[in-house]
Parts: sequence; C-alpha cells; structure tokens
Amino acid sequence: MTRPRRALALLPTPLQRLPALEALLGSGPLYLKRDDLIGFGVAGNKARALEFLLGDALAGRADVLVTAGSPGSNFVAAAALAARVCGLDCDVLVSGPHPARPPVTLRLAEQAGARMRYTGADREELDELVDKHAARLREQGRTPYGIPRGGTTPVGALGFAHAAAELTAQVTSAGIDDPVVVLPTGSGASLAGLLAGRAAIGATWRPYGVSVSRPLPQIRAEVLGLARRCAQLTASPAPAEGDVHIVDPPFGGAAPGGFGHITHRDRRDALLALRCEGLLLDSTYGVKAFGAVLALVGAGERAPIVLWHTGGMPGALSLLTSPAGPP
Ligand SMILES: *Cc1c(COP(=O)(O)O)cnc(C)c1O
Repeated sequence: MTRPRRALALLPTPLQRLPALEALLGSGPLYLKRDDLIGFGVAGNKARALEFLLGDALAGRADVLVTAGSPGSNFVAAAALAARVCGLDCDVLVSGPHPARPPVTLRLAEQAGARMRYTGADREELDELVDKHAARLREQGRTPYGIPRGGTTPVGALGFAHAAAELTAQVTSAGIDDPVVVLPTGSGASLAGLLAGRAAIGATWRPYGVSVSRPLPQIRAEVLGLARRCAQLTASPAPAEGDVHIVDPPFGGAAPGGFGHITHRDRRDALLALRCEGLLLDSTYGVKAFGAVLALVGAGERAPIVLWHTGGMPGALSLLTSPAGPP
C-alpha cells in the first residue's frame, strides 16, 4: 500500500566516495550518503520523515502542525518550514525556559512562521504536551496534526524505509559489496525505517547505528518496535531482532557529559573530516558517527563503509566555533 507523500527533498541524495580519507586511514572503500545535501532548508535526514508526515497531515485535511523539541532540535526547524510550504500553521513546543539567545534552529522555526511556546518542561514530557495542545486546538475547531519529538512515528519512519531502497539501488549500481552502513541514531526513527525498508526488499548491507543519546537496551527495543510498526504500515516482512545493530559512540556514548557534549576528540575528528574531505559534521550526530567509522577502521574492518551524513548544519558550524570539554 502506498502512503501519501508530499515531496520536499531532492532525491536521491548523492553517494560519494571519500578517496582522500581512505588514503589517509589506509582503509577499505569509504562512502558518504549525502543527506546533508537533501535540498530542503537545513533539514538533513528530517526531510525524509517530513515527506510522509506532511503527506499524512494533508490527506487528513489538517490545518495546523503541532510538534516539539529541545532548543537545538533540527526536526523542529525543518517541521516548521515544511508546514509553511504546505500551507499549514505550526505550533512548536520547546523544552526548558525561554532562552535569552535562542539557537539558530529555533530562530529558523520562528522565521518560518511557527508559533513558539516555551514550556519549561523536560524533553521527556514533550510528547504528552503535544497531545494536550492538539486536543485544545481541536476544541477550538482546528484540525491539528500532532508529531512527537524527532518525527518518531511509523509514518515518519517510512521516509527511511524508502531511503533503504534508494541506497540499495546506488550500492548495486556502483558495485559496492555489502557495506556496513553507519547511521547516527537519536530517536531511532531513521534507523527503524532503514531496517523496515531493508527487510522489505531483502537487502544485505549491514546497518550500524551509533546511539548519541539513549542507553543501548532502550534504543534497541525502541528501534525494533518502531521498525516493526513501520513494516506493518506497508504490509512488509518484519525486521528481525538480530538485524538491530546499535553501538555507543567510541568514546562514551551518551556519557561523558551527555547528549550533544563536545569532546576534544570530537573536535579533532571534525577537523580531520573538514581538512581531508571538506566535510562539515555536527557535534551531536555527525561527528559521533564519524568517530565510529574511524573506530571500525582502527579495529580492522575492511568491508566498504557507508557513513550516512544526516545533516545538522547548525550544529556543524557551532562545533567549529565553540570550546570543547574533556577528554
Ligand atoms: C535527528 C537527527 C539524527 C537522528 O535521527 P533519528 O531518526 O532521530 O535517530 C541524526 N542526525 C541529524 C543531523 C539529525 O538532525
């Protein structure tokens, strides 16, 4: 069954080889899947989920999108922009107090025309607040479409289910033999979709998630559950538990310092990517996944590796301009 989709991205995003990095590391073939070039604002991977979320919202004749995130959320900025170009209003619930200087992500959402609500709530409480806010709007006669943090729903995951087919076509036509596909993993919606899409077409490349914010047992269970619900939407074979491969970033996962924390190692890796291949990697996702690629190569992995560049331009620029902490 095909689901409604509102085109936002320029697809397929390029799959690019990284010869200078291969030479520097003495590694096997290295590739980059360039969702940073996805062509919709600075949405990165979020544009894929939003194509299906907006498709669903428009099919249900919604007139206002309700979503939420922490101040640095790339999803919130992308969702606000997507709502605007689709002619919908957008209400954004932000965790924590009103920041004295809102980060560029929130300013983007605001400039796109979203109504911002600073809730003072914790990140974990936001999804419940989205439901409550949507219920209030419904009482006022509106037709809201609520989206949890990060677009983490089975419908949102369809974006990466389709990306699995996109990557498979590129890998096949380039003759790349069963690569390891490294993907930074936050909410897990992207990895879940990738697993669902991979199972649907019986692809044999190996997904490799790098958890940037959640403990491994939790994120593994959440990804598997979401991947299975996504597969149900398209009546596709369910991904197996054994397909869910997720690791912590090489130096400490959510620790040390927690989500989005920048270490000296991260900065060194970001400079390596910048100077070697001209790549901008963000502090929260990109550089952690890149660090995992370096660790894989360091541990002797010789198979081709595809690093999924998920975007994160606002964070990439701040990584290069803000001070690092230990180690
Ligand atoms: C949201 C995001 C991710 C993580 O995607 P999930 O689907 O939440 O796991 C990775 N990279 C960037 C740049 C993001 O904005």
